[in-house]
Amino acid sequence: MIIVMKPEASQDDVNQILARIEAKGLKPLHMPGAERVVLGALGDERILAELDLEAEPQVESVKPILAPYKLVSRELHPHDTLVRIGNATFGGGRFGLIAGPCAVETETQIMASAKAAKAAGATVLRAGAYKPRTSPYAFQGHGPDALVLLAEVGREVGLPVVTEVIESGDVELVARHADALQVGARNMQNFALLKAVGRAGKPVVLKRGMSAKIEDLLLAAEYVLAAGNDQLILCERGIRTFETATRNTLDLAAVPLLKAKSHLPVIVDPSHGTGIRDLVIPMALAAAAAGADGVMVEVHVDPPSALSDGPQSLYPDQMLALGKQLEALLVALGRSL
Ligand code: PEP
Ligand code: MN
Repeated sequence: MIIVMKPEASQDDVNQILARIEAKGLKPLHMPGAERVVLGALGDERILAELDLEAEPQVESVKPILAPYKLVSRELHPHDTLVRIGNATFGGGRFGLIAGPCAVETETQIMASAKAAKAAGATVLRAGAYKPRTSPYAFQGHGPDALVLLAEVGREVGLPVVTEVIESGDVELVARHADALQVGARNMQNFALLKAVGRAGKPVVLKRGMSAKIEDLLLAAEYVLAAGNDQLILCERGIRTFETATRNTLDLAAVPLLKAKSHLPVIVDPSHGTGIRDLVIPMALAAAAAGADGVMVEVHVDPPSALSDGPQSLYPDQMLALGKQLEALLVALGRSL
């Protein structure tokens, strides 16, 4: 519920209302604005109804938050939330380019791929240390050694790093080495993991599950915000449909829709979204045109030798071309990389 205080309400009036909300076991929110204070109360709808705040003389209006994802919704928070990963900013008109190989394989491979990403204008380096693979026999990532290597390479090329965490028990370790944590499509509804990354104090990139509806994604994000972390980027990465010509069906309509429903930044991953290298550049450009706050792409120094996702990984010269084309498009749109 959103509670708008009258302009003349004092700090004491505000504190009194916040105390009443808390006394009911509800979560109080305090959002001071330039002209008036807005408060929020989150929790069980029946208890919210018992508060009867309309009767308070210093309360101007009370309205319910209709969306089930209260903290993620624009109803409660009309302005864009800016998410910062190192020096890169996502949201509020700023565009971020996240790039890197699917996985950290060797020192030479990650260094050369990171340099290709940086040369193309990437603002964040991404690579997996833990790979959630469909087959238990497929390459699972080099784990803790890869985390250390990725952090070293990030420092050396001058880029913050994001990497996937697949188990709640690993969150602390991954957060020690990475500037941001990725929760993958297969884990979008791993609620224990969502709560753990919510408490980790690092920005989160949350990927849409392959069979998740928009509302499922927003409710998954709500778990992270409810655990105290609003530094969350939503990532559209394609969904399963009857179409098999592409690895997934990239749902670009999700971009403006998510941005209308939520204040959180939205990025697009055209690599997993299509699974086809030559579709990555056109779909990355389409994502930017649709209003995305960034894109996340896979680039590998030698895609045919990649241990995972080679067919969808850009060659370094394609990565450069993507950087140039994105920049030109963003300028045309009145934005910049
Ligand atoms: C990845 O980003 O490498 C990955 C495994 O993606 P997704 O979770 O979207 O399948
Ligand atoms: Mn991948």
